[in-house]
Amino acid sequence: MPERPKLTRRRVCHSLACLAVALWAILLGPARASLAAERVVCASYPVFLFTRFLNDGRDLFQVELLTNPAAGCPHEFAPTPRDLERLTQTGILVKNGLGLEPYLDRALRVAPPDIEVIDASQGIPPLSIIWGRVDVDGSMAPWPDGRQPAMIPNPHAFLSPKFSLAMVGNIARALTRLDPGGADHYAGRLAEWELMTQGLEELLGRFRETHRGYKLITSHGFMDYLARDLGLAVLADLSPMGTESPPSAQRLSLLGRLVEQEKIAAILLDPEADPAAARTLGREANVPAAIIDSAASGPPDPPLDFFQRVIREDIELLGKLLPANVQPPPPPPRPVPAPSDPRPVEAPALD
Ligand SMILES: [Zn+2]
Repeated sequence: MPERPKLTRRRVCHSLACLAVALWAILLGPARASLAAERVVCASYPVFLFTRFLNDGRDLFQVELLTNPAAGCPHEFAPTPRDLERLTQTGILVKNGLGLEPYLDRALRVAPPDIEVIDASQGIPPLSIIWGRVDVDGSMAPWPDGRQPAMIPNPHAFLSPKFSLAMVGNIARALTRLDPGGADHYAGRLAEWELMTQGLEELLGRFRETHRGYKLITSHGFMDYLARDLGLAVLADLSPMGTESPPSAQRLSLLGRLVEQEKIAAILLDPEADPAAARTLGREANVPAAIIDSAASGPPDPPLDFFQRVIREDIELLGKLLPANVQPPPPPPRPVPAPSDPRPVEAPALD
């Protein structure tokens, strides 16, 4: 097995040795990327999007996704022997954190002992898995390890644009530490993400101004953070708290009562959830049921602004599902234009 490149080899240096390597790389052309790039493996799709965006244009890293891009959140993901083999040859791993990738606890045992693990959600204040709400059946079933659901962080912070910015910032800082010569590049890419986030924040703000207090049922807490950004309230999950199991007939009946009592406006599922139960509940309770993109899956080679497209499409879909219930504020008054050629008042004749 070829020796893994040392981190120091990525640094841009001005020594003669590096110059020689650079000339050799130019002469060899396309072979350079495969020889020089250090593999960065991403443990879930959202951080794959974020890391690709930062790496674009510098390309000192070879950014890969460990999970299946079409499979959604990796709550239940189990790596294959081939995935584990890739981890043994990985120097840098980017994870969402907050427990989104439980498979890493075991999988990282096969990784090199000096692997750099970048936790993208470091410093983000997490919502709990139940976000202060009690499950619809009143149960508080403990986790297999004995913890209560209220103590488990909800890992879907990536779907909130402002938290995506915090995550991109964390990854940018880590890449800068590993590749100091690229500091300006990563800072520029982060500034670009910030600009795009401002655009999304404006959209979210406009939605909040015209859509007040709508209550939702969702699947597995996937949009608790985004719902908070949108000024919406998630009252319950279709599945029992913290799981993705299909709801029982008894649970569906309890949810039906909740829809009536709380005037639930919509049932929203992530693309990987089984829509059958949501359709039944929606039909019986006469509320719309729809799929909202969770940005947890997508094409293997997505456009660089894939995340922003997902959020824009989600806001657009929600705008169609939930009618505006507040008039938008009137536009600010337009300033009265000053006369361009004010004529002096002539003094009256005295005689
Ligand atoms: Zn999830």
